[in-house]
Amino acid sequence: MSDSKIPSRVEIPFFPFGKRIAVTTSFDDGVVQDRRVVKAFNEWGLKGTFNLNSGGLLRTGKPATGSSGRIDACEVADLYRGHEVAVHTVTHPSLTRLDPAQIAMEVIEDRKALEDLVGYPVRGMAYPNGAYDENVINVLRQTGIVYSRTVENSPRCFPPAEPLAWASTAHMYSNNPCPVNENFENLYNIKNYSGVFYIWGHTWGVKNLPSSFKINP
Ligand SMILES: [Zn+2]
Repeated sequence: MSDSKIPSRVEIPFFPFGKRIAVTTSFDDGVVQDRRVVKAFNEWGLKGTFNLNSGGLLRTGKPATGSSGRIDACEVADLYRGHEVAVHTVTHPSLTRLDPAQIAMEVIEDRKALEDLVGYPVRGMAYPNGAYDENVINVLRQTGIVYSRTVENSPRCFPPAEPLAWASTAHMYSNNPCPVNENFENLYNIKNYSGVFYIWGHTWGVKNLPSSFKINP
């Protein structure tokens, strides 16, 4: 092989099949409106992370009734199968207001309770109220949590410099710098853009779900 055939730069794609962009979502609090979003995602082949407060889950042993409020613990394993269940603390406090022992208890107890429900190691998290600081991160390093989502936004959110302070691309109803669908198209049209398009929010805020959805090959 002559020198001219040697590539000057080897690019290793982040994602399987050389895909430039991975789309994922992160929804908080474990509410009954998660059901319709999970159903749609399952039909469309999309994956999401659902961040649950184990102390907020109902414990009646029967699926929650009503059109709002938290789901029952008995629904967790079946409802979120194929998606990720992650920690959102037991009681949803702002962790920056707690001392280290309280932070550890909120995280470890939630992690244990969720693992009992889903039957696999729970390693992800989203900060309740988006509140975190260096002290919180230092406690998390002792709890087996490998990443935690913030409520900060960045078009370059992947790979994160600090996985325990992981920004998403945008909130689902963010208009900064533009609505989410335009945001995706703009990034997709940048031919050398590669990253994760990472949307977070609450399923109770999801108003209109299209009946079908085509994912670009
Ligand atoms: Zn929350």
